[in-house]
Amino acid sequence: ILYNQVQDLKGTIRVYCRVRPFLQGQPNGQSTVDYIGENGNIMIVNPLKHGKDARKVFSFNKVFGPTISQEQVYVDTQPLVRSILDGYNVCIFAYGQTGSGKTYTMSGPDLTTEQTWGVNYRALRDLFQMSKERADVVHYEVGVQMIEIYNEQLNGLNVPDASWVPVSSTQDVLELMKVGQKNRAVGATALNERSSRSHSILTVHVYGKELVSGSILRGCLHLVDLAGSERVDKSEAVGERLKEAQHINKSLSALGDVISALAQKSAHIPYRNSKLTQVLQDSLGGQAKTLMFVHISPEVNAVGETISTLKFAERVA
Ligand code: ADP
Ligand code: MG
Repeated sequence: ILYNQVQDLKGTIRVYCRVRPFLQGQPNGQSTVDYIGENGNIMIVNPLKHGKDARKVFSFNKVFGPTISQEQVYVDTQPLVRSILDGYNVCIFAYGQTGSGKTYTMSGPDLTTEQTWGVNYRALRDLFQMSKERADVVHYEVGVQMIEIYNEQLNGLNVPDASWVPVSSTQDVLELMKVGQKNRAVGATALNERSSRSHSILTVHVYGKELVSGSILRGCLHLVDLAGSERVDKSEAVGERLKEAQHINKSLSALGDVISALAQKSAHIPYRNSKLTQVLQDSLGGQAKTLMFVHISPEVNAVGETISTLKFAERVA
């Protein structure tokens, strides 16, 4: 059964670029985003360069400017999310340097304000609603799992053994999130620091049974808030910080390698090179769909990271 026009979602990999607005209370200054075109183009101006090297255009499936709301972003994400009810596997990634808006896109700035909820909660709310609408045709069960990958090690966040927890409302999910945050054995300020150096994955697992035929469908959605992609100055990072940086580097490039191998329909997909790609292997490639949100900051002092982020994204697009 196909409830959604999944075939309309051309290709299996798409890349959306999102530009963060200038932060409140900060001087706006000059933006490195020169313009955003209608059809997924974005031009970056690098004030540190001159002549034709100063401007560069990148192309993606979509570009969301700094005034685009959480709701508008979700509209373009919804068909992928809903396809898991038809038995598809989907991965949605948030990529970008620390402070560029990854957590804002995935979770939102604040769990208690529905209006600014990110993709995670909107997706779950949508899935609960859709599964109710289809209740006379398919019986669905939904479960979630929260894990973190830190220094190539996998930790369960909601429960000690990282098992599935059945959920039936967004309230259930919010409760789990709170438990998950407590289980990150670090204080509040350290949490922010640590979360920028670990990948956090919220997996939504759907199990459906068609009432008439008795046939079973399984779909899975991975919502991944990646570690910050910024390059760490090797001369400054030592000890634990250097180790973290090396692990992040390794796993983000392994992810880039896997997605670009998939995009090029390469015969060998190098899943084994990082914990992240191993964990997501079943949901990357084959019939599975991938969406990468790449985030950029508009500030001039971020231009180097902005360009390397967009280059990474272009490689996988
Ligand atoms: P990251 O997770 O990439 O480190 P955050 O999501 O924490 O970045 O965003 C950094 C700051 O910018 C936060 O204060 C966040 O609320 C704000 N922010 C990010 N994106 C947006 C946006 N699209 N609109 C408004 N504020 C945003
Ligand atoms: Mg974050």
